[in-house]
Amino acid sequence: MPTVTPDGLTVLDGGDAPIRALVLDADPARRGDAPPLVQLRDIARPIPPAPGWALIRPTLAGINARDLALLSSDRTLPPMGAPRPLPMVPGSEVVGVVEEVNGTRWAREGQRVLVEPNAGCMIRGFPTCARCAAGEAELCENRDRPSVIGPGADGGLASGGGWSEGVLAHEEMLIPADGISDQRGVLGVSLAAAIHAVLRWNRRGDRVAVIGSGTTTRLVIAALRRLHPDVDITVMVDARGPQRTGRRRRKLPAHLAVDESSVARALECLGAARVWRGSPAQLLDRTAELLGARRMIVAGDDLPVLDRGLDAVIDCRGTAASVALGMRLLRSGATIVVAGRAGRLELDWSALWSRELTIAGSGGFGREPAGWRTFAAVREWLTDASFPADSLVTHRYQLDAFSTAIATAAAGEAVGAVKVVFEAPSAPFRQRRLAVDTELPVDDTAAPMLLAATAARVRRDDEGGG
Ligand SMILES: [Zn+2]
Repeated sequence: MPTVTPDGLTVLDGGDAPIRALVLDADPARRGDAPPLVQLRDIARPIPPAPGWALIRPTLAGINARDLALLSSDRTLPPMGAPRPLPMVPGSEVVGVVEEVNGTRWAREGQRVLVEPNAGCMIRGFPTCARCAAGEAELCENRDRPSVIGPGADGGLASGGGWSEGVLAHEEMLIPADGISDQRGVLGVSLAAAIHAVLRWNRRGDRVAVIGSGTTTRLVIAALRRLHPDVDITVMVDARGPQRTGRRRRKLPAHLAVDESSVARALECLGAARVWRGSPAQLLDRTAELLGARRMIVAGDDLPVLDRGLDAVIDCRGTAASVALGMRLLRSGATIVVAGRAGRLELDWSALWSRELTIAGSGGFGREPAGWRTFAAVREWLTDASFPADSLVTHRYQLDAFSTAIATAAAGEAVGAVKVVFEAPSAPFRQRRLAVDTELPVDDTAAPMLLAATAARVRRDDEGGG
């Protein structure tokens, strides 16, 4: 019987076959400039801690912005929700197979499932809080408290764990994946976040801009197209000034230059009417021209705000430049949804009150205003072959190649990466073997890694069906 440590990771205690997992040991922010540290390690196979719990073997597990922030030593990145005890296993985007169950109602061994990484009061053994009672488990008031079921419940998928060969989840977090390929299923969490972001806009009007180019942006475009077929969608890939764009480009070898036309084609296939790049001034000018909007110059400011501007902006970048651009693009009384993981931003807020804009934050999902579960829509859409999600997973790596995988995800567009995933061996857990620790620094700037990432690319945007 393995021992469960207070930090929620099981440790080897003989007897059971271990599983492999990428373990984050130390808080990268406390390590200063040292490379973030994950290790591929053998840990004891987690045991479903109470009735209703199951052990899931991930077949694909995604790398997302939250994971990258967790591994980063960059102190300007925002805190990622409730504090997590270390060591921990990152990864909250999982499609997998039920490996073992403890008194579940419908989940059975061998079943393929998507996982909704929300564990509210009921699942973690607390009396139901007000937010969980309202169906908003992602905003649970008890989420920073250790579960009363025991650390096994906290080491489960609600706090990560997907970068492994086995992770715990409660049956309430599982959704049958029948009719959904692994390649589409691993996008479940990103799609849920995108649907939620779109529904944070209480629609008034029909002209929308989406800022960004990554997985969330692409799924926001597809979700907008599906939920509001008549809206006009402009995508603004970047809100950087020309100077910054130039600096970034000089860093990259020529063969790694962003293939802008293929990115634009992919975004248009998902439902964008047009895809623009440029400085904030250029993007404001083009929008004014498109809408017949008037540029209003505010005293002491170089950039205009648009009168009769856009009805909504969904900002998937969450940088100071993107939020500032978004607010200037909007007509009075319009809405900006901040779906990117914004941290501390220095911004001029005068347009917010003087033009009575609404800022809506979007960081999770659970139940939408109409009362339906976000993941019910995720399941329906991913089952529908006409929903364009097939080209988003661009790179797959085994857990051993974590260093390259993480560097590829961090490099993103520069190496043609959209969604980067880990793939686990398809066989059930292997026999117990000797524990071998490997410790490799993660370096997301090293050219050899980018080359390897390019070589390992499994699909390019322009080859996909999106
Ligand atoms: Zn709660």
